[in-house]
Amino acid sequence: MIYQPEIECMDRESMRELQGKRLVETVAWEYANVPLYRARMDEAGVKPQDIKGIDDLSKLPFTEKTDLRDEFPFGLLAAPRSEIVRIQGSSGTTGHPIVAGYTRGDVAVWQQMVARAMSAAGVTKDDIVQVAYGYGLFTGGLGAHQGATELGAMVIPMSAGNTQRQLMMMKELGTTVLCCTPSYAIYLGETAREMGLKPGVDLHLKSGCFGAEPWTEEMRQKLESLFEFDALDIYGLTEIAGPGVAFECMEKHGMHVNEDHVIVEVIDPKTGEQLPAGTPGELVFTTITKKGQPMIRYRTHDICTLDDSPCACGRSAIRMSRITGRTDDMLVIRGVNVFPSQIEGVLVGIEGVSPHYQLEVDRVNSTDTLAVNVELTEDMFSDTVSSVEAVRRKIAEQIKSVVGISAKINLVPPKSIPRSEGKAKRVIDKRNLH
Ligand code: ADP
Ligand code: ZN
Repeated sequence: MIYQPEIECMDRESMRELQGKRLVETVAWEYANVPLYRARMDEAGVKPQDIKGIDDLSKLPFTEKTDLRDEFPFGLLAAPRSEIVRIQGSSGTTGHPIVAGYTRGDVAVWQQMVARAMSAAGVTKDDIVQVAYGYGLFTGGLGAHQGATELGAMVIPMSAGNTQRQLMMMKELGTTVLCCTPSYAIYLGETAREMGLKPGVDLHLKSGCFGAEPWTEEMRQKLESLFEFDALDIYGLTEIAGPGVAFECMEKHGMHVNEDHVIVEVIDPKTGEQLPAGTPGELVFTTITKKGQPMIRYRTHDICTLDDSPCACGRSAIRMSRITGRTDDMLVIRGVNVFPSQIEGVLVGIEGVSPHYQLEVDRVNSTDTLAVNVELTEDMFSDTVSSVEAVRRKIAEQIKSVVGISAKINLVPPKSIPRSEGKAKRVIDKRNLH
């Protein structure tokens, strides 16, 4: 269902006008209240009155994650401290944590963004939504919680972890929608199988909203077969709001951006130039309704492609592709760019191995090496040496053809790679340890 059709299906021209109007207001608000923004704009020779609409966006300087660190904790607040009702923080995947302050209005906006996402996943007031994202500073738990509450669904605030108990509650309470990271969902699905819980008999999930980390189409298929439901992608980041910045509809063909609240751009990460829809680059967001800690042209370091073609669901909002990786995650191995998601795509498509994997990068005699550790399934683990060898060869060949480099494939016993309850750690890079 489309939660707010008057906005979600607005014609593109009216949306651009609305965005332009809100951008002008946001820039004036930032300039008046945040010394760092004022200094940056002065340095770039841009005054608030130079920003008249959305076409002027590219005149504005970028904001970087380092700005949030340098101004930690409250230097980027644009509203008075007394107006801030919530602090959320990044999970610290890439270093020192950062925090974001929300006013009452900012929380309400975020809640609506998630409600739209969940509504697109079919959630109504009749649903039972199990939130297995972590609760706390991380935006996943509270974000999903608020979105489901907005729709009037019954929320089970499980938080992450305690896998067997999650599944017991899922069965006993009759959960219909699951929200967590895709890597945790896989773990839940496999544990359900082991516990003998059958979809359609013991479990009654109809859909799930999975995000907070990159995942692949192959992983979606794996999840959908484990739970027999629709697995949808949801994207967000603390700096901008949290989950719900963009979300998939049932077409499963890109995530609609909540464009009345954020302006999305894709830029060339080297030159900073805006790129047209269809060309992959770095995602950049500008918030246009936030008051607490608005962000202007925030560089996410996430790589994706925009698609402005019409969507069969009726929503007019531009769509972003799956995130293929973060520029911070991109490994350069012997001069070749490698994203963990490319390797995931290969592994999940191969019979005999589970979707649990880790990449180990090292340097031996000044040459980079890549090892891919992947678990065999129980069946394959007890199979003959020659069939295990055949699996190893197949993985090696496919990685070579997809990524362009050769890797050492370590087939490890079932359950030997650490399971993730939140964001999975896919890469161990030992090159800087020498
Ligand atoms: P951290 O930077 O510590 O991971 P956040 O918890 O705010 O902080 O996570 C935001 C990041 O998580 C995004 O910038 C992106 O890299 C990743 N992310 C969030 N949702 C998705 C998604 N659906 N697909 C891929 N990556 C995602
Ligand atoms: Zn759609």
